Amino acid sequence: MSTQTLQATQTREIVKIDPSTGEEIGRAPLHDAAEVAAAVDRARAAQPAWARLSYRERARFVLRAREIVLEQLEEIAKLISRETGKPVAEAISMEIVPTLDLMHHFAENTKALLKRRRIGLGQYNFMARTSYIVYKPLGVVGIISPWNFPWATPLDEVVMALMAGNAVVVKPSELTPFTALKIANVFKQAQLPDGLLQIVTGDGSTGAALVEAGVNKIMFTGSVNTGKRVAEAAAKQLTPVVLELGGKDPMIVFEDANLENAARAAIWGAFCNSGQACASIERCYVHESVADKFVELVVKETKLLKQDKASTENIDIGAMTNERQLEIVEDHVSDAVEHGAQLRTGGHRVNEAQGWFHQPTVVTGVDHSMKLMRDETFGPVLPIMTFKTEEEAVRLANDSIYGLTASVFTGDLAHGKRIAEQIEAGTVMVNEVVYTHALAQTPWGGVKQSGYGRTHGSLGLLELVSAQHIHVNAMPGLADVWWFPYTKRAGELFRDFAKRFTTGSLLRSAPLLPKILRRLIEPR
Ligand code: NAD
Repeated sequence: MSTQTLQATQTREIVKIDPSTGEEIGRAPLHDAAEVAAAVDRARAAQPAWARLSYRERARFVLRAREIVLEQLEEIAKLISRETGKPVAEAISMEIVPTLDLMHHFAENTKALLKRRRIGLGQYNFMARTSYIVYKPLGVVGIISPWNFPWATPLDEVVMALMAGNAVVVKPSELTPFTALKIANVFKQAQLPDGLLQIVTGDGSTGAALVEAGVNKIMFTGSVNTGKRVAEAAAKQLTPVVLELGGKDPMIVFEDANLENAARAAIWGAFCNSGQACASIERCYVHESVADKFVELVVKETKLLKQDKASTENIDIGAMTNERQLEIVEDHVSDAVEHGAQLRTGGHRVNEAQGWFHQPTVVTGVDHSMKLMRDETFGPVLPIMTFKTEEEAVRLANDSIYGLTASVFTGDLAHGKRIAEQIEAGTVMVNEVVYTHALAQTPWGGVKQSGYGRTHGSLGLLELVSAQHIHVNAMPGLADVWWFPYTKRAGELFRDFAKRFTTGSLLRSAPLLPKILRRLIEPR
């Protein structure tokens, strides 16, 4: 079977295949534009009452849902694992644990993160002016998500959007409909009021319909090409979009790094989730003086990994989630080998298996002319290149259209931090890889073609509200000096303002005071 999803147009269903076995798991509805529009209408009707609840009341639903996830942890982990092909342990560690933490974080802290914020106005405060920001829900948020983290990606955004007072409509990947339906089921058990969280299963046409359905914001996670289409379609209605797109994330290993740990980090960073993480290590640059040792360690550790069907206990690597992605991996590896790269271990599809498996693969002798070093591979492949100087390492790391995350390994933390700031990426880790999506507190998002906007952290929360500025003049009986009429005295005062008025510096502005007073009492 060449694709994982079949559109049975007569029955309007998507057919879900188990990537470990090739067997059908089940079918989910393929929602059309009218059904998507109806879901958005239901969400819009439910949202105002939800927005009137206090943060504490909203948090109660989220925390109840969190308890249900904990109670049903094994069932949920097996579902994620079966639908994606990833090990059950990884479904727990990379999807469920971070999300439980995020649910707790935003249930506890959204009130403080979104509290009314006073803005200092300098001299304007002496003129009896005050300003503050209030954060209001957007209304209905549309979430379009990919298949690689089918639980964590949509659920994190659902929780943050709900806590901010919005209703949400989620369009999950056609490759992982059942995990998304389970998210809705958990919130139903938590008695979230109807209409606030709806899942519209379907394919790209369903996603396109959600973009056109007049939602107040689209949170899109997926590939660069689809992201561009979504941004273009959203622009027609000026619907704001957050785009979390692909990556080609570099890892730099300096000669003073702890090589054993760097090697283990590299293989986890490249092979966890079968390499299907937007933040996977997709390019590794190691200082030439330690390259042989590093490659030897990486190859040794890679050969110890256990790969099998997702249902097998204690495996390290499972299947890839879809065959199209597996074919891209094969193409990148064979292109690199044809152009002179060396396979150090792995390199092939696992042919005897029924599902879509690719061996964890280490490649050396690569360069930036190869697809493997330029395009997103999104599979279990670790290409390793050497560098001579730190300038070269930074240049190579930045030689990409992507900029999601990056990693720097060194024993000198100050050096690591200096290098980190020179790298063009939304997140740069020092002596760490991949995992920061698990942090609820920190912003997640990219630069360059990895997208724009943020999810997670306070910056991510601010994407889900509209910031309203309220400005108050507490002396309503006094006309402003800059109002009509523009008398001679007014003109002189404005010229003096230009020279002296400096917000925050009373000393510089003080000489204006007598002229301001004269203007205030000037007959007008
Ligand atoms: P994709 O772009 O093919 O699909 C993503 C989602 O968009 C799916 O739900 C799909 O049905 C929907 N879609 C397709 N066409 C659409 C259209 N015209 N309008 C609206 N929606 C449409 O991506 P994918 O293959 O599911 O996911 C893999 C990609 O996601 C990789 O590039 C990966 O790097 C990226 N990703 C990024 C992040 C991040 O946080 N930056 C996280 C996970 C995955």
